[in-house]
Amino acid sequence: MLGLNKALSFLVGATLIAQSEAFSHARNTRVATLALGAGAGAHAEDESVVVDAATRNARIIAPLSAILASLSPITGSVSPASALPAANAFEAALRKNFPGSLPNSALALRVSAALRDRGYTRTNTLFGSSLCSDEINDTAESLVGDFLNKLGVEGVFNLGGLGGLPFVGISGMGAFTSHCPVDGKIFIVFGPHVGIADDGTVGKVERVGKNTVSTSCGAGIGAYKAIMATETVKEATETLSTKDFQEEYIIAQLSTRLDALRGQDPSNETIAYVTNKMYDLVWEMLRSEINAFTTKPDFWGSVSEVTLLGGIVVNRGHGEGVPGGEDFYQPLMLKSLTKDGESDIYGEVFGDFPALARPHNAAKYV
Ligand SMILES: [Zn+2]
Repeated sequence: MLGLNKALSFLVGATLIAQSEAFSHARNTRVATLALGAGAGAHAEDESVVVDAATRNARIIAPLSAILASLSPITGSVSPASALPAANAFEAALRKNFPGSLPNSALALRVSAALRDRGYTRTNTLFGSSLCSDEINDTAESLVGDFLNKLGVEGVFNLGGLGGLPFVGISGMGAFTSHCPVDGKIFIVFGPHVGIADDGTVGKVERVGKNTVSTSCGAGIGAYKAIMATETVKEATETLSTKDFQEEYIIAQLSTRLDALRGQDPSNETIAYVTNKMYDLVWEMLRSEINAFTTKPDFWGSVSEVTLLGGIVVNRGHGEGVPGGEDFYQPLMLKSLTKDGESDIYGEVFGDFPALARPHNAAKYV
């Protein structure tokens, strides 16, 4: 378990402010390179990369390693998934594959408090989400519902299509950002989703009125299956057409990123891996769309700040014979952008959760 000193050092160290070139293409390229290749430690000297390297550590290394899961401490504090006793198969699978996940309500409470501290109010805040179209992500107990309640804002702009990718594109992002109150602030929550069934199966979830578990996320896992069923990347991309644009885009984009899974049977670990790759797709598209506006000089004349919360939604089953309850969210990114640059506030908000702090520390100081 992290000692107090180490936890404090994390809180101080993880708050990085880039003075220039925030969100630039150059940075994006470096991050993308890191994401596809080397471990976090190799880039530890570059703070602009380390922020996202830490993210990487939290979501890629942990799901594929039983080691981190086994190190997850039991604490008496509130509810990160990694601190829960493995009371059932759902919680065990959650803790192992998406360490540090928080119940929606706890997550939204924490982030909303941080936003209030940064001056986000009911009337000056524009709220957007880039989550999968699946209705499972838009229930009264969903993450968006929690944020609507806690932020007190009127509604949410839905940027997300299948898999959570912001398929609204530049036009949709432009419409969204143009709705920001005068000198207001924008908050966007984004990410893919994945179910965990009551028996602990990752990628499945019980739905109301259904006799059998169903796939979640169908878009991501469907793409995974389609890619595994083809011999080569080339074959997968050749099937592109316009009849099923969103799913075909996901298949094409994922097809170059799942080589590590070829020859492996589907398992909780492979589905967690696919879900993390889906996170990459969501973030890369969202980043590109946001850059199209935040890099314009006049954008910051009407918007004072943009805060981005990225992570993985973990759906819990609802329906006959399952306990139901709220979903979970594994936070992987929390940063604020202003005209002066980018601030990573992940450590301020989540740094006291050991399962979330440890990967960040490892990425920063190794
Ligand atoms: Zn989905």
